[in-house]
Amino acid sequence: MSQTQKTLVDSFGRKIDYVRLSVTDRCDFRCVYCMAEEMKFLPRAQLLTLEELASLGQSFVNLGVKKIRLTGGEPLVRRGIVELVESLSALPGLDEVTLTTNGSQLSKFAMPLQRAGLKRINISLDSLVPGRFARMTRRDMLPQVLAGIDAVVDAGFERIKINSVVMRDHNDDEVLALVDYAQERDIDISFIEEMPLGQVTSHNREHAYCSSDDVRRLVEKAYTLLPSTDTTGGPSRYYRIPERKGRVGFISPHSHNFCDSCNRLRVTAEGRLLLCLGQENSVDLRALLRRYPGEQIAVENAILEAMMHRPEGHQFAQDDAPQILRFMNMTGG
Ligand code: SF4
Repeated sequence: MSQTQKTLVDSFGRKIDYVRLSVTDRCDFRCVYCMAEEMKFLPRAQLLTLEELASLGQSFVNLGVKKIRLTGGEPLVRRGIVELVESLSALPGLDEVTLTTNGSQLSKFAMPLQRAGLKRINISLDSLVPGRFARMTRRDMLPQVLAGIDAVVDAGFERIKINSVVMRDHNDDEVLALVDYAQERDIDISFIEEMPLGQVTSHNREHAYCSSDDVRRLVEKAYTLLPSTDTTGGPSRYYRIPERKGRVGFISPHSHNFCDSCNRLRVTAEGRLLLCLGQENSVDLRALLRRYPGEQIAVENAILEAMMHRPEGHQFAQDDAPQILRFMNMTGG
């Protein structure tokens, strides 16, 4: 059988066609639910090179992957990111290259990324209030982010989505303002429950937890939400608003466990293949990429083999201490 006919199916029968590839652990923000103020980042030699990232992308496509999302840290602080998007976009068999960003660099990168073949883009935005944004990200950069969102709207991407993590008594009073903001621009917005990853001392997770159902009730104070079967291959459950283009989605790792349909793998910036976001199982693909440069078969066999060790699901619980003691910037969320 040729490589192109292989597919990734785990021992629970879940087909994998979506990979999130972290290109850096660095970021120009220090969001309170993601990082500590003082972070020690990986030495550059430990990150996958652009060539290794491109080779890995090719391997995943050979194994039937249809969608690759580039994440970080903040992917746009990685030098050569536009070239990487360009080379991945050119892979025959890959339907889509997408990217998740904090938006701070988009004024500069919107057009080059669009020209390089990026079709969809997700922008993380938790607050439209400058002081609060600065407290949540520990950076006073809201104007740059809003200018960046305008730049992607102008650049003509096929789909643009805002992702907002809602936390009680932090930004739950802004849910409607965020929906208004997205609606005015005809773009989607998804609200995400905070995940218990990494040790964070800035807030009490149990108190800050805001379920998707809570957020949906807030949105419904001003908008009619019609359940939709739309899917973008991710875990968002979408609703449409009558006579509006932008949709409202909810990503609910706590309250609506989506493990049984999980179609994704993650690769950290140092090339560890994570088999589940909520579990520590991983495979060191960087070691194989460096031991067998230019040969894809060893990496592809390791990925295929790893499918048999993929766990059934995560075990997040609302009141637990974090089960996973890595920071989110290591995994790309
Ligand atoms: S959540 Fe995103 S933007 Fe914020 S520090 Fe983490 S990687 Fe950076």
